[in-house]
This record gives sequence, C-alpha cells and structure tokens, in this order.
Amino acid sequence: MSFSGPQHWREADLILTGDADPCSYGCPHTGCPHEMSMLVRAIGHGLLALTAATLVRSGLTPADRHEWLKATDPEYAAEQDAEATR
Ligand SMILES: [Zn+2]
Repeated sequence: MSFSGPQHWREADLILTGDADPCSYGCPHTGCPHEMSMLVRAIGHGLLALTAATLVRSGLTPADRHEWLKATDPEYAAEQDAEATR
C-alpha cells in the first residue's frame, strides 16, 4: 500500500497515540521485538510524512518536484500515469 504524506502522518499518529496493542503476541514485558517493530514503523511513517511536507515548500526544479511527487503522492502518480497513456 502506498501512502500520501498526510496518510503517513495519520498512520504514525495512530501507532503512537492510538489504542493499538503494541504487541499482539501476548509477550509479558514491554520492549518486545513486536513493540519495537511497531515503533520503528511509526518512525518510518513520520519520516516519510516529513519528507512529503518538506517538498511542499522546497526549492526543487519542476522536473525534480515532478519526480518527488510521483514517488511520494499516489494520487499524483496515478494522474501522471493516466495522462501518459492518453
Ligand atoms: Zn511481543
């Protein structure tokens, strides 16, 4: 599944502040590998959200901006693909 910047932010926020059980395997202690994996996913989503947000106000050339948007915004990428096949 591909996320837009705001979707990455929501996913990170959900992991960090949601009621989701950090470990669904019933491990007796906090800090188990499952909880660590979930935290790493939250950090990853946060970094991708930050990258996408930074692009909004960046000094990229139009060509670079186009490539970044294709990589980070699934809707933009789908629009571009649709135009390319017209
Ligand atoms: Zn666990």
